[in-house]
Amino acid sequence: MKKTCSFCGRDEANVHMLISGIRAYICDECAREANRFVDEVMAKKGSKSKGLGFDLETLPKPKEIKEYLDQYVIGQDDAKRYLSVSVYNHYKRLAQQTTDDGVEIEKSNIIMVGSTGTGKTLLARTIAKLLKVPFTIVDATVFTEAGYVGEDVESILSRLLQVADYDVEAAQRGIVFIDEIDKIARKSDNPSITRDVSGEGVQQGLLKLLEGSMVNVPPKGGRKHPDQDYIHVDTRNILFICGGAFDGIEKKIAQRMNTHVVGYNSVQNLHQIDKGNLMKYILPQDLKSFGLIPEIIGRLPVLTYLNPLDRSALRNILTEPKNSIVKQQIKLFEMDGIKLEFDSEALEYIVDKAVEYKLGARGLRSIMESIMMDAQYEAPSQEIKEFEVTLSYAKAQLEKANLAQMKAE
Ligand code: ADP
Repeated sequence: MKKTCSFCGRDEANVHMLISGIRAYICDECAREANRFVDEVMAKKGSKSKGLGFDLETLPKPKEIKEYLDQYVIGQDDAKRYLSVSVYNHYKRLAQQTTDDGVEIEKSNIIMVGSTGTGKTLLARTIAKLLKVPFTIVDATVFTEAGYVGEDVESILSRLLQVADYDVEAAQRGIVFIDEIDKIARKSDNPSITRDVSGEGVQQGLLKLLEGSMVNVPPKGGRKHPDQDYIHVDTRNILFICGGAFDGIEKKIAQRMNTHVVGYNSVQNLHQIDKGNLMKYILPQDLKSFGLIPEIIGRLPVLTYLNPLDRSALRNILTEPKNSIVKQQIKLFEMDGIKLEFDSEALEYIVDKAVEYKLGARGLRSIMESIMMDAQYEAPSQEIKEFEVTLSYAKAQLEKANLAQMKAE
């Protein structure tokens, strides 16, 4: 029987090749045509558009993003919801670039306000891990120190490129976490500052980055020869998440709320205000009163806050997250074949000390290290199968460590 292409009907003699299926054949030309057709349809559906590599169907939904964050970050529900939605929208925006209905989703850079050690960096880092996009952390204070802004913008992007293994496409849809954004606020109401190293100039530099621009980044290891080409990085699709403690911003919030709260209804509302945590009422104008220029605020349209960590949150942080400090210690010992256990009183003691030292969650880790240092040194060479951290052991170890530190000082 003569073999013919089941699509165009041409026989073997009139085509370059004929691929056989179970009960049909397809010629090379029809296969190519089919491939083109599939690409076209998929692009219209928004999947893998323009090689951006984001498939809306596989992109985690806001609820899934939040559930993932819940595994690693304790509390901070509002911040998690805001982050989940804006990150989802951001990647939706990347996926929909082929549509031509004139509706263009704008970028939703995020700003998180909350005391140090409450989980801002952890949130940003965890999201980047989930999405498997290049992620880097920079400190906004580098802008103030160097003074010359252009250089620093390049160095941020060069770090992002590095983590992306110099895959420019990947870097261009990465996430940059800018920490301590509050440190570049204008301090014009502070007369003792003679040279305003922070303030507007620095903010303008940052603005360029946030707005989306083409930045020339020197290739690997800096630009050694004048004729070496720069790498062009477009910041338009990079998601910027900013964080800052904004110490004292509660006062600005309180001021605003007092001046705005007039009339009977408002007096009633005033009673419902949670005075212990004014941060949750933060609005963009408070950032302006703090000293951020309106243009920067405009480029960070998603504003959210983090709660201060209370005792019970700290206690949870110790044991609940997927890679909690306690789980990490247990794993370290397990690798030496030792079963490590913590008495609950010992854990309570660690939390008490973290509260006392006022270091937030960051304190938990250093206290744990101080307590476990000796055991981590001795245990691997000992013939033991179990190790129990009791309250008295924890106390003795921490006191010993503190004493050693005092002597050193
Ligand atoms: P921030 O950026 O707000 O100053 P980080 O995110 O760097 O604080 O937090 C410091 C450390 O404290 C983290 O590495 C993490 O171990 C712990 N931590 C802080 N907040 C939380 C939280 N809400 N849930 C779990 N761990 C937290």
